[in-house]
Amino acid sequence: MKKIKWLLLLGILVLLFGYKFNDLNPKINISNEKSKDAGYITIEKDHIYYGNLLLVNHDNPVQEIGVKRDIINLIEHQNHMQGYQLLDPDIRISEQVAERFSTMVNAAKKDHVDHFMINSGFRSLEEQSQLYEEMGPAYALPAGFSEHNLGISLDIGSTLKRMEDAEEGKWLEKNSWKYGFILRYPKDKSAITGIQYEPWHFRYVGLPHSAIMYEKNLTLEQYQDYLKKKTSISVHYEDKKYYISYYDFKGESSKKVAVTRNYEISGDNRSGIIVTGTN
Ligand SMILES: [Zn+2]
Repeated sequence: MKKIKWLLLLGILVLLFGYKFNDLNPKINISNEKSKDAGYITIEKDHIYYGNLLLVNHDNPVQEIGVKRDIINLIEHQNHMQGYQLLDPDIRISEQVAERFSTMVNAAKKDHVDHFMINSGFRSLEEQSQLYEEMGPAYALPAGFSEHNLGISLDIGSTLKRMEDAEEGKWLEKNSWKYGFILRYPKDKSAITGIQYEPWHFRYVGLPHSAIMYEKNLTLEQYQDYLKKKTSISVHYEDKKYYISYYDFKGESSKKVAVTRNYEISGDNRSGIIVTGTN
């Protein structure tokens, strides 16, 4: 009888911890299910260089077309500026990203993590080249080779501590994927990203991509390779089904592809285009 009691207690503990563990992870289900297509579109080669999934690194610089068109000066948009501070009044970012960031910061506040500060956002190519000249190659990237030139990356700090020690940093590492963000340069991935651990640099990629990358522990480089290899996956996340397809351009200038009713297109900034659709 005693044994059964212990087993019961153990069972309850496993359930409790299992639940806790599960709660921190995206509940995603990846399969090969085919989408219900609503029609066809033609994607052009130019699309390779535009969108939220672009890879920007030392081999793949930002193209003019890749710079976000909805860049705003945050201080002039108080509606997106609740619950955090700015290092300087000139900080700009894509409006879509500002809106997601604001939602994320509000969610963190509910967990009593509320000392966020944006230290850097969008940098134009001219600003990046000025920074490179001032800081040198050890501390800055040349113009076009920084994600900040896209307008969808943020350097986020805490007003209390250094980001690696701050609750703000820990919270973002665990939760930012829920809002479409990724920690772009993780500690154990510098051999892949080519950049040292940057606990402050977060990059917007959008859902469901951030959830897949978080669950599978993939950097953007690895995620693009994964999609390229799979060519097509479907993802069930939060009652929504997403269909993700990768199209490699091998010399063609355009491609006719099937799409679902709602879809988004992004290039990889290398050779392909990723179409993310929902019904
Ligand atoms: Zn940065």
